[in-house]
Amino acid sequence: MDTEHCEIPHVGSESPKLVSKGAKPEGTIVRVNRIPIGGNEVVLMAGPCAVENIEQLLETARQVASSGASILRGGAFKPRTSPYSFQGLGLEGLQMLSQAREETGLAVVSEVMDPRQLELVGEHADILQIGSRNMQNFPLLKEAGMSLKPILLKRGMMATLDEFLNAAEYIMSQGNPHVILCERGIRTFESATRYTLDLNAVPLLKQMTHLPIIVDPSHGTGIRSLVPAMAKASIAAGADGLLMEVHYRPDEALCDGSQSLYPEDLKKLTLEIEKVAEAIGRSLYKG
Ligand code: PEP
Ligand code: MN
Repeated sequence: MDTEHCEIPHVGSESPKLVSKGAKPEGTIVRVNRIPIGGNEVVLMAGPCAVENIEQLLETARQVASSGASILRGGAFKPRTSPYSFQGLGLEGLQMLSQAREETGLAVVSEVMDPRQLELVGEHADILQIGSRNMQNFPLLKEAGMSLKPILLKRGMMATLDEFLNAAEYIMSQGNPHVILCERGIRTFESATRYTLDLNAVPLLKQMTHLPIIVDPSHGTGIRSLVPAMAKASIAAGADGLLMEVHYRPDEALCDGSQSLYPEDLKKLTLEIEKVAEAIGRSLYKG
């Protein structure tokens, strides 16, 4: 595949149309309240893997805001491998996210796992996240397509870029054009890291689609000490933003503590990301 507008490879006869670069060569900017995702400014989203309690969320959110990030992440419905692991606080967690947004002014992104959760999560979050495990949950994608909310669609951990783009096409085909793609690592033979962050996907997706692309280096590595390097590499590769896990006390986290940054790590990293962005003619969105 060379070409400027790379054709999306496909097996069947139905190739994705709405997501393709050719449909909108100038690129899409997804606006989350006043925050432009996909423009010249890179946008930072950070927060705990899961909302655990009000102190954890507010303390982490304050640190996220003071670091220069503009969007708070936090799951209230968690897709856990084991049914015995912490499943999230549900409605209570969503209410805490609303409180954190009110207090800090940060926008909020939170996950939906079931079509029946969209309305409720949409009352408390500015962006609805569809996680890796649900990238091909077609009823969920269709329901998200009927919403007007921005959708953060994560790449399935075993999905090709063709499958990823077709998942985005499902959402767009129902009428919702506000889709943000997120590379979060894929499964490979390598077991030294949790996943293999596929940074090839960033410049390639930029050729294939007009949709904004962000990267999650937290799940992509699974290892806190690798997150800063891969975050900077993501911006250098052309990502429009980052989704990162940060926790006020990572050692006490109920979920993904070992890949969560300490608040001071995020502060230092933000300054470095700003320099990387500037080196490629972009800047950091600061609100
Ligand atoms: C998350 O962002 O909390 C999450 C569960 O990520 P993923 O769907 O990429 O595993
Ligand atoms: Mn997580």
